[in-house]
Amino acid sequence: MDLPRLQDGGVDLQVFGVVTRVPHSRNYDANRGDTDVLPTLFIASWRSPATWFSLKERALVQANELRSLTGTSPLSLVLRREDLSIAGPKGLLALEGMHALEGRAEALGELYSAGFRMMGLTHHFDNEAAGSAHGDKKYGLTEFGRTLVPEMEALGITIDLAHASPAAIRDTLALVTKPVVVSHVGVQGTCPGPRNLSDEQLRDIARNGGVIGIGYWKAAVCDPSVEGIVTAILYAISIAGVDHVGLGSDFDGNVAAPFDATGLPMLTESLLEAGLSMEDVSKIIGGNVKRVLAANLPL
Ligand SMILES: [Zn+2]
Repeated sequence: MDLPRLQDGGVDLQVFGVVTRVPHSRNYDANRGDTDVLPTLFIASWRSPATWFSLKERALVQANELRSLTGTSPLSLVLRREDLSIAGPKGLLALEGMHALEGRAEALGELYSAGFRMMGLTHHFDNEAAGSAHGDKKYGLTEFGRTLVPEMEALGITIDLAHASPAAIRDTLALVTKPVVVSHVGVQGTCPGPRNLSDEQLRDIARNGGVIGIGYWKAAVCDPSVEGIVTAILYAISIAGVDHVGLGSDFDGNVAAPFDATGLPMLTESLLEAGLSMEDVSKIIGGNVKRVLAANLPL
């Protein structure tokens, strides 16, 4: 995924997920949060010493890097609701895991000011805010997490339940007043796995008015091909309804996808061939996500 390929693929909006901590021997089943491979990467890529050991600084520096690109390229950043209508390719900054706050509620405002407009509660390990689907305890929303959820909603940050534990998904859905996303995920109905959504969770997200973004990689869809992705999308539609399913590429998410951003028209074509109407396909390939972002973004 890069800007020329986004343009070739006709992509209007790409969410850029920022990662701030990755445990050693990361796996899908159970990780502890006390190791971290990123210091080596941040040192080797000549980022400032402030980023070597501060998760928040890592988030801020990556946000600044994307923001500086918007000044020198056709890419623009979505910060307010009206920005969704800007012509040309757009990016939205997202955070993978509230551990980037380093346990400080005040950091939420700093990250918002840096441009973050979507935040996942967890990534590959349990953190101060919530348990992860890949954590060693997989607990629900913590007291700290419970204070963050209304603050995120008040600021205009879309809450992302991708990577969250089943308990954290349940606790968050009981607390939110706005629609959420599960930005990149699979469904148990076509591909069992620790982070893929059950039918009951699909119905819960639909009831919330949110969107489930179907990923393209093997652990999300089991069959990582255009057909496999379409099968998962059709299954999610059959349970959650056509207003609650979208695309969850995870391009450049350290996973292999069957096509790059230029291949997205193959998905559109296959969804039409599967019998979906043009109107329904347009909901799946962006309309639903746009609706949820519009409901959350600040004016
Ligand atoms: Zn992720």
